[in-house]
Parts: sequence; C-alpha cells; structure tokens
Amino acid sequence: MSDPALFINQVERRYKQGDNELAILRGADLAVWPGQSVALIAPSGAGKSTLLQIAGLLEKPDGGEVYIGQAPTSHLDDEARTSLRRLDIGFVYQFHHLLPEFSAAENVMMPQMIRGLSKKVARERSLELLTYLGLGEREKHRPGELSGGEQQRVAIARAVANGPRVLLADEPTGNLDPRTADHVFGALTDLVRFSGLAALIATHNMELARRMDRRVTLRDGKIVELE
Ligand code: ADP
Repeated sequence: MSDPALFINQVERRYKQGDNELAILRGADLAVWPGQSVALIAPSGAGKSTLLQIAGLLEKPDGGEVYIGQAPTSHLDDEARTSLRRLDIGFVYQFHHLLPEFSAAENVMMPQMIRGLSKKVARERSLELLTYLGLGEREKHRPGELSGGEQQRVAIARAVANGPRVLLADEPTGNLDPRTADHVFGALTDLVRFSGLAALIATHNMELARRMDRRVTLRDGKIVELE
C-alpha cells in the first residue's frame, strides 16, 4: 500500500478554561490514504473542528505530529505552513465563503493565481473542474446567482483547484436540503476517487457517512474506527 497522504500521529490539544484545562485531543491517531474518504462523526463539542484545524495546519497541536505526505509539519514556521496549506490542503466549510463580486470561474481561479499560475492556465483548470462538477454552464454566474448546491460545488472546485493531497471538510452539506446534499456529496466523493485526494469530512449525516470508505469518531480525545 502507498503511504498515507495525511497522518495525524499522537496529537494532543488542550484548552485553558479559567483554572481548568480541557483536554480535547489526547493522543489522536489517524491515517488517510490517497483516494480515500473518511467520515468523522462525533457529537458537538467532541473536537471535530479542532482536529480539522490541526490537520489543516491552521492550529498547532500541543503534542504529536501532523504529516502531509511524508513530511512532518510541527517544526515549520508560519510562512512554510501557509505555503504547504496553499498547495497541499483544500478546505470546504458548511458555508461556501465564495467572493460575491467574482464569477464562479474567477473564484476557482483565485487560489491558483495566488500560487503564481498564469490567468490562462488557472482559467482552463477552473473550467475543467466546474465542468466535472456539472457547472460548466454556470462559470460566469456570481455566487448570488447560483443555488445553494451550486455554490457549494463551486466551493469544492475552489478547494481542489491547486490539486491538494488532502481535502478537509466541516459539515460541507450541513446547510443544504437532503436531495441537494446527496447530489453535492456524490460530486465530492467522485472527485476524491478520481483525483486521488485523501478526504476527512466531518458530518452528522449518517446516510452520507455510510457512503464513504471509512467512518471514525472521537472518543475521550482519541480517534476510534467505526464498523
Ligand atoms: P466540535 O467541532 O466537535 O463541535 P470543537 O473542536 O469545536 O468540537 O470543540 C471541542 C471543545 O473544545 C469544545 O468544548 C469547545 O468549547 C472547546 N474549544 C474549542 N476551541 C476552543 C478555544 N479556542 N478555546 C477554548 N476552548 C475551545
């Protein structure tokens, strides 16, 4: 088997609450392989967002290590973390966070141009992704002219625009009606398989979670594999 694209190793995270310390992650371990989608299902407050923030290098753990590809990340400075995040990690949130004054295609071009690709290359890649996600005809529309499901598919295209190794999503369909959620979710998992991404997706939707390759939960600050 190939190496994991994301490896969370013995990760610890504690928050101070007054005089108390709240240990949210206590030696969390998780490996996700390329092309694999993993559902993270746990009650509110269990530490899902904390884990995703740490996996996405947005927060530093108090202990342990996060490997992206084979590379450890804890020794990196902020600039190196930002650069790694830009290239290797895509995020999808519950709300799309698209820029309202730009078209769908421009929103997907943005991260590529920040990375230094030419407008032409970024545009081609954007159209390819939007077409793959069934939005080829919508490329000129602004977010306000798109449905909730379409907006979320544009957000997915933007998240994978730079061809990351890892896709992290926090309730990506939580804001959509069941049918639209089903559709967006299908597009997301197809993309994961097709592009060899490793995806970690927090969701409350058991039906969608069942369609992913693996399901895990957080119990006492550790990752536990579900059936
Ligand atoms: P989930 O995403 O599973 O709902 P979170 O990771 O958001 O859980 O939060 C886990 C716990 O950590 C919660 O009890 C929350 O209140 C606490 N927490 C999260 N972030 C902070 C913070 N920056 N400071 C203090 N406590 C926090």
